Amino acid sequence: MQETENTIAEFDALLDAASDRMEAETAELRERNRRLESLLAEKTAVVKNLEDAWKVAQISAQLRREIRSLYGACCGYCGVCEEDVGSELTLDHFQPVARLGQDTRENLVYCCFACNAFKGDY
Ligand SMILES: [Zn+2]
Repeated sequence: MQETENTIAEFDALLDAASDRMEAETAELRERNRRLESLLAEKTAVVKNLEDAWKVAQISAQLRREIRSLYGACCGYCGVCEEDVGSELTLDHFQPVARLGQDTRENLVYCCFACNAFKGDY
């Protein structure tokens, strides 16, 4: 009888240890998963930015000039002008390329780097 009780106690201890190990491994896997998800989001954002930069690079010089003069060489969002920043501004897709925004006069906004970076894909 004594032997059976000992065996049960040992078994319980083994079970507890296994359960603890599983909990620790689960926590570790969750943490790894969280890191991978944030890495994926980071990489996805980089790819989107590259796609957008590529799309902007494809816009003809003619269209760029038109948009620039349409906005009076000033940022369409905050109003800062080329004279203020000392260089030409950028073009932003009002509806992001990632959301199928097109290279049209209606969808392009002449804007400063700060506003372009801030806006992202929104
Ligand atoms: Zn701006």
